[in-house]
Amino acid sequence: MKNLKLVSRGAAQRTTINVADLQVGGDFIVIAGPCSVESEKQLLETARAVKAAGADMLRGGAFKPRTSPYDFQGLGIQGLKILEKAKQETGLPIVTEVVDPRDVSWVAEFADVLQIGTRNMQNFSLLKEVGRAGRPVLLKRGMHSTLMEWLNCAEYILSEGNPDVILCERGIRTFETYTRNTLDLSAVPAIKELSHLPILIDPTHSTGRLSLIPSMSMAAVAAGADGMIIEVHHKPSEALCDADQALTPQTFSGIMKRLRPLKSFLDGLPAN
Ligand code: PEP
Ligand code: MN
Repeated sequence: MKNLKLVSRGAAQRTTINVADLQVGGDFIVIAGPCSVESEKQLLETARAVKAAGADMLRGGAFKPRTSPYDFQGLGIQGLKILEKAKQETGLPIVTEVVDPRDVSWVAEFADVLQIGTRNMQNFSLLKEVGRAGRPVLLKRGMHSTLMEWLNCAEYILSEGNPDVILCERGIRTFETYTRNTLDLSAVPAIKELSHLPILIDPTHSTGRLSLIPSMSMAAVAAGADGMIIEVHHKPSEALCDADQALTPQTFSGIMKRLRPLKSFLDGLPAN
């Protein structure tokens, strides 16, 4: 812990991060939207649906780090312009991934929150760049990373002068193959013990299975997460990326109807 000067619990009170009129680390935040921005129609329809269901922010990748170089890589600047349009219409702040240090300063002009994906968690030049970007950063846990490695990456960002880091547990690689990854729910209370930074859960990439997403969303609330990021597509079967794990707006809406009452119920219980 001695090198975690800025992220460790002792260094500060719990951090809350302002994004528009939201407080990450205060309210329970739900970020929803497609894996990638595919077209104006796709994004706007999905954005309207997630807004109607009660989402707080809109996600969507314009730069996609794909396993195969032949898979859809995202629309780049065109995708960011579509995100901007969706924000103008719905008022939802935008969360979008940046993959290249050279793109950070201009992507930050479109993003309310810059996402660093699991594959780039230890891309130290990218971390230093987002540390200077003047935007909150959603730092996903590396799929092979320990909590200490992850917190050290957050330290990189804070040490460049950016205090606004939101951690996101998105599942880690284990021997299990039924799920895409293994959701490490214990990361939530563990991170709360170790750090003052807020932490979200990604029930989508951690399970990769539609049938498991509703219960893992509830579990995220029960574990004490500060929110979640979840993939929704207006027509999942047509998604160009992560089609098998995208929720329909209807299913997402059903989860949202149960999520907030569960949060209120748990908040009303005596502290242990
Ligand atoms: C994503 O959020 O679409 C994504 C690629 O996530 P991860 O980096 O966790 O795989
Ligand atoms: Mn995805």
